[in-house]
Amino acid sequence: MSRYSRPEYVKVLTVDDAIEELIRNGEAYVVAGGTDLVVNMRLGRCAPRKLVDLSAVPQLSVVSPDHNSVVIGATATMSRIVEALSPWPSLSALTTAASLLGTPQVRNLATIGGNIGNASPSAELVGPLVALGASAVLRGPKGDRCVPIEELFVGPGETVLSKSEVLTAVDVPIPPTKTLTAYARHRRTRVDLATVGVSVALGVTAGRCQHCRVVLTAVAPTPLRAIEAEGVLAGQKLTEEVIAQAALVASAEARPISDVRASADYRRELVEIITRRSLTSLAATLGVN
Ligand SMILES: Cc1cc2nc3c(=O)[nH]c(=O)nc-3n(C[C@H](O)[C@H](O)[C@H](O)COP(=O)(O)OP(=O)(O)OC[C@H]3O[C@@H](n4cnc5c(N)ncnc54)[C@H](O)[C@@H]3O)c2cc1C
Repeated sequence: MSRYSRPEYVKVLTVDDAIEELIRNGEAYVVAGGTDLVVNMRLGRCAPRKLVDLSAVPQLSVVSPDHNSVVIGATATMSRIVEALSPWPSLSALTTAASLLGTPQVRNLATIGGNIGNASPSAELVGPLVALGASAVLRGPKGDRCVPIEELFVGPGETVLSKSEVLTAVDVPIPPTKTLTAYARHRRTRVDLATVGVSVALGVTAGRCQHCRVVLTAVAPTPLRAIEAEGVLAGQKLTEEVIAQAALVASAEARPISDVRASADYRRELVEIITRRSLTSLAATLGVN
């Protein structure tokens, strides 16, 4: 284990206090569950001078669904998200991803804000959030701003958040009737990051695809919308041939690297298989193939 110097630690009760701490110390990091940050500190990948703990800010852990959208507070844990949102079948991509992340112990600590803030290309919740058209609510010294999750990531470990901004919530629109979502991923072992993740949102009207999003994770530096594959599906009857063509196009759009988890070629093959299976299963549930 590598040595690291113990940072100063402060637990705040409001988001504004957190922002003040971040402004005061340019090398401060916010911490929520600590399941990424503390591991990275121990591995010597980062060395914060100060940790600003958000876990005691009451309103940040709230998950509040209504008819049009669900607002998920930044410190809501995976376990809380699964518990609160399971009654919404159209949000299945998100609850599936939250229930697959890590182990039960990790899911009781790991937060949505940390999963986004860590900006890993294989982060579990990010693909589903892009597929659902969700936005991040950020607060900084100049007030609040709202950024689509799709536009939040700059590269591995990098987001558009400034040093003194805090993600306070994620706003997820509830998909319209006849729209379903799914998330599926491949991993090498029971507890491992995704080798490939595929998130799909599919809406139908009169037996044809009226809305679709296909989002790939762990195959590019940031989450990737397979726009051309979406184009193959748009307005079409979801036949076996159309779905197979969309899956093939999605795999050509992926930009994977080879690393310890898988070769680039294997990842491309996984994208095709997982996309085809996900679309086929959603189309069957929607009764259109
Ligand atoms: C054993 C194990 C298994 C894991 N398995 C998976 C897995 O299968 N899939 C997966 O995606 N991840 C996995 N992880 C990684 C991790 O659990 C998740 O990414 C988790 O969601 C991180 O949340 P956290 O609250 O612990 O973040 P933290 O570690 O507290 O923070 C992570 C980063 O986000 C920043 N941050 C946190 N909250 C905010 C906020 N509100 N605003 C701005 N920045 C913020 C922090 O400054 C830090 O840079 C695993 C980790 C472990 C230890």
